[in-house]
Amino acid sequence: MQLDNDELAEIRRAVRALCEEFPGEYWRKKDRDRAYPAEFVDALTKSGFLAALIPEEFGGSGLKLDAACVIMEEVQAAGCNGAAAHAQMYVMNTLLRYGSDEQKNEYLPKIASGDMRLQAFGVSEPTSGTDTLSLKTRAVREGDEYVINGQKIWTSRAEHSDLMMLLARTTPKDEVAKKTEGLSLFLVNMQEALGNGLTIKPIRTMMNHSTTEVFFDDMRIPASALIGEEGKGFRYILSGMNAERVLIAAECIGDAKWFIEKATAYANEREVFSGPIGKNQGVQFPIARSYAQTCAAELMVRHAAQVYDEGGNAGAEANMAKMLASEASWTAADMCVQTHGGFGFAEEYDVERKFREARLYTVAPISTNLILSYLAEHVLGLPRSY
Ligand SMILES: Cc1cc2nc3c(=O)[nH]c(=O)nc-3n(C[C@H](O)[C@H](O)[C@H](O)COP(=O)(O)OP(=O)(O)OC[C@H]3O[C@@H](n4cnc5c(N)ncnc54)[C@H](O)[C@@H]3O)c2cc1C
Repeated sequence: MQLDNDELAEIRRAVRALCEEFPGEYWRKKDRDRAYPAEFVDALTKSGFLAALIPEEFGGSGLKLDAACVIMEEVQAAGCNGAAAHAQMYVMNTLLRYGSDEQKNEYLPKIASGDMRLQAFGVSEPTSGTDTLSLKTRAVREGDEYVINGQKIWTSRAEHSDLMMLLARTTPKDEVAKKTEGLSLFLVNMQEALGNGLTIKPIRTMMNHSTTEVFFDDMRIPASALIGEEGKGFRYILSGMNAERVLIAAECIGDAKWFIEKATAYANEREVFSGPIGKNQGVQFPIARSYAQTCAAELMVRHAAQVYDEGGNAGAEANMAKMLASEASWTAADMCVQTHGGFGFAEEYDVERKFREARLYTVAPISTNLILSYLAEHVLGLPRSY
């Protein structure tokens, strides 16, 4: 369902109202304890925001990516951290597009109601890194089951999710005609697998992100966990990855807006040398530049969402949106710390927390270099570099 501007503005207001229940102290405490913001995720779920992209027939609101972007942008612009929950939106999309009717009927209503969380996406591995096609986790069919062995890294929210979308190799790389073949996608019920071949180990990171390492040791899952056809998993995740990049780009725009608003307010308030620091152009210009950069990136994010919503191949737009928005948010983060001087480092201002959180997005879910390589090769026709 495509919403008009007034309806999108109404969503913004509703998300803002929800976020007001989760002020800076809430996030500071979670950050200090490296604790999962379960109350916030539950509130987002109960309000229906996390089921925005789930069709109405499965209990969601059947909205388009542009509305999902508005939700995640507002979460960030309000000072909250959507990283605790954003995966549900884009991972669910892969289930929706490529899952069987049985899988959709079984899981989508439970995800929409909040009875089950689908927050974990197991792609990255320690040895293959960005080279996804070289991943080593193997899934071998044995009768009505697949037996999984291998390891994932950076599987965020695995401890707080019931389901994991897992990419594993079903045919060895040297036995497939094209290296994009032979990878398969599975919807793993982690509740059943935990302690039965599945082990999760948290990784402590510079920000509160609930990320983990996941080990599969003869983990047996039913063959019915396979999404779509065996060997086609890489193709299936590509369109989900475009949605992920656009959504995360929208979060970066929200972050940038938070930093700009915070810096502007502080520059107006803080008086040094008998006047507000914001009257100095050396303080004003970085804020103004950051604002212009953010507005430009926002246009690309909206355009990418539109191309995706119209059913086009949004590969180039999604990548550009993610790169430009993550650079805009990181520039804004740095500017905000500089504007606050020493207070930018004090926990109670939230600036240092948001600064740490914003740093992630030029690296994950795909690093800037790989986006540039994609544009160089696939859009500009330059030779492949790797
Ligand atoms: C907090 C966090 C959460 C994450 N959550 C998830 C998750 O939920 N699920 C998941 O599957 N993954 C997740 N990731 C993984 C993330 O997607 C990867 O870290 C990211 O894609 C980069 O891969 P890498 O770390 O293996 O870096 P590498 O591939 O080792 O690359 C390291 C550096 O080298 C550069 N580089 C590599 N190859 C080239 C090249 N050919 N040309 C130019 N530069 C190159 C990269 O740009 C990068 O800067 C997460 C990561 C983090 C840090």
